[in-house]
Amino acid sequence: MTRTRIAPSPTGVDIHVGTVATALMNWAWAKKNQGQFVVRIEDTDRTRLVAGGEQKMLSTLNRLGLIPDESPELGGPYGPYRQSERLPLYKKYAEELIAKGKAYYCICTPERLVKMRKEQQVRKQIPKYDRYCYFHQKEVVEKVKGGESYVVRLLMPDKPITFSDIVRGKIVINGKDLDDQVLLKSDGFPTYHLAVVVDDYLMKIDYVIRAEEWLPSTPKHIIIYEALGWPLPFFAHVSLLRNPDKSKLSKRKNPVWASWYLDQGILPAAFLNYLALMGWSHPEGKDIFSLDEYVKVFDLKDVQKTAPIFDPVKLEWMNGEYIRQSQNANLKTQILKFYGNNLPADIVEKTIPLIKERIKKLADYLPLAEFFFKRPEKYDIDLSGKKEVLKAMAETVSAISDWQAEVIGEKMQVLATKLEVKNSEFFMMLRVAISGKKITPPLNESMAILGKDESLQRLKRLL
Ligand code: GLU
Repeated sequence: MTRTRIAPSPTGVDIHVGTVATALMNWAWAKKNQGQFVVRIEDTDRTRLVAGGEQKMLSTLNRLGLIPDESPELGGPYGPYRQSERLPLYKKYAEELIAKGKAYYCICTPERLVKMRKEQQVRKQIPKYDRYCYFHQKEVVEKVKGGESYVVRLLMPDKPITFSDIVRGKIVINGKDLDDQVLLKSDGFPTYHLAVVVDDYLMKIDYVIRAEEWLPSTPKHIIIYEALGWPLPFFAHVSLLRNPDKSKLSKRKNPVWASWYLDQGILPAAFLNYLALMGWSHPEGKDIFSLDEYVKVFDLKDVQKTAPIFDPVKLEWMNGEYIRQSQNANLKTQILKFYGNNLPADIVEKTIPLIKERIKKLADYLPLAEFFFKRPEKYDIDLSGKKEVLKAMAETVSAISDWQAEVIGEKMQVLATKLEVKNSEFFMMLRVAISGKKITPPLNESMAILGKDESLQRLKRLL
């Protein structure tokens, strides 16, 4: 049974785009192998918690359709799925590690640790805990029993730690270079390192697919697994997303929260399709494919090490492709929903064929189509000196009995010729008079949708 997970910390206002990319791989790998995809919330760093962050992350995952099989909201057989609710477990395993001689109590004060680091710096040594409490463990235990505040540290063995990463190959790190990691903090909360191992083991996670930034932590995790006699999961550390200029994805360059893109009217399917291409390519080189197809052809061993570029411009392009390929009825529903069901459905329906080729995201719809619902309040071109032409236009409109795009186009063309106004100029005037804008969907079709009365009213208003 394949069980995968993401373990986000609610330290932001929403889920990060990079976490969604990792979630997608985890989700696909679980689906592909008829397994389960778990969401666990790692909320042990209490100082960095963002109120509402957890809920928002879970709801964004739902909006995207990356529905977990087990999560804090859904529960499941290995819960609770929020680390802050699992504290006794971490304490139990920390004590087990101590009993096995693999970890120890430490009561060093922050002041002592600062002083020690400074001295190490002066001596140009690797900054590492000097094991003072390990060497005085007997006295330390007495003090702990007496109620002194303590942390639990892992005793890093002095040996090379070797493991094989599905994406990055064989990794060798010398344990001697690693610090005696704190596993349990003085407030009783575990650090990430202890909690992640305990939970991945107890939740029966066998594939740990996560961002490369956790690769340096993995040797510490392996030591904990070994110390507790637990089998190792498979590890796959996927590369972090980059901006097009190769810098790390950060709020300063592009929005990093997934819901920002959804709120712009990026379709979930397009978003996931684009993210699927981060560090992986379709075996046939396809850009566009369904989620079902992705699950079928995705393989963890094909994930590449090179840093994937997350380019919002390409994402928009892809979304435009999805919009063009949507069924009209489906696109109508999406647009209505996007605008909170505040637009008249019958008009939206009529405008779909006109705008489908012209928008890249749902938020492009209203700026382009607003004039269907509202008379213009301002005009891109000053038409005040064009009364004669506008009057003739109004007369022509009122004389059209068969109100259809083609007929409108023909009659207007005849008028332009008769008035000896250049076509481009004539139709620009008409466009701006009707819509207020220089850029609109095709004019004749738009007027056909607006109706004869409304088109006439708009011309007359200007007169
Ligand atoms: N809590 C870590 C994070 O926020 C999870 C790392 C992991 O997947 O092990 O990304």
